[in-house]
Amino acid sequence: YSFDDLNLKPSIVRGIFGYGYENPSAIQQRAIMPITQGRDVLAQAQSGTGKTATFTISALQRIDENLKQTQALILAPTRELALQIQSVITHIGLYLNVTVHACIGGTSVSDDIAAFKAGTQIVVGTPGRVFDLIERGIFKTESVKMFILDEADEMLSSGFKEQIYNIFRLLPETSQVVLLSATMPPDVLDVTTKFMNDPVRILV
Ligand code: AMP
Repeated sequence: YSFDDLNLKPSIVRGIFGYGYENPSAIQQRAIMPITQGRDVLAQAQSGTGKTATFTISALQRIDENLKQTQALILAPTRELALQIQSVITHIGLYLNVTVHACIGGTSVSDDIAAFKAGTQIVVGTPGRVFDLIERGIFKTESVKMFILDEADEMLSSGFKEQIYNIFRLLPETSQVVLLSATMPPDVLDVTTKFMNDPVRILV
């Protein structure tokens, strides 16, 4: 496959090439199609495989640009990683009308409130802040159709398990789940059996 063969919006392909990527990596070749088709996907992938662009490209493809509500939620274990993901989304999404906001600890909640009022379409954040904003009714989840958990093993082993379970319960049951993890310990497998529906499994 090339990026032209993945049935992506031309504006996304333009963003990908503009960002300097020429050909999809192995995980991108295997995962972008099922994710953009709405399937649940369980990917065992390390950093360095191109996993971030895999779910970034897929999320951008699935967002309805005309619907000013949060449609995709991406969770990451650290603030730094959440900000890196936000940056990749902004770069690859340069030619789309898609808004992204980072919900991370240590920033002002008033900025979060303003972003949700404006109708941010993609949210990338850490579990603590994201759960807090949902619970307070600031982040309204009814239009979320895509829930992405990056580095799930790291998130589950660093004390975020309860918040992640709570977030699952506060999202629409119909939401697609995409989970990426370098390893598959029991905590990760528990999440996949409890919350994922007939996932496509990808090992890279
Ligand atoms: P990640 O696995 O998301 O941590 O990405 C690892 C590195 O690969 C990052 O520097 C990406 O910018 C880069 N990368 C991801 N996809 C591609 C691609 N298709 N072509 C070239 N570089 C890529």
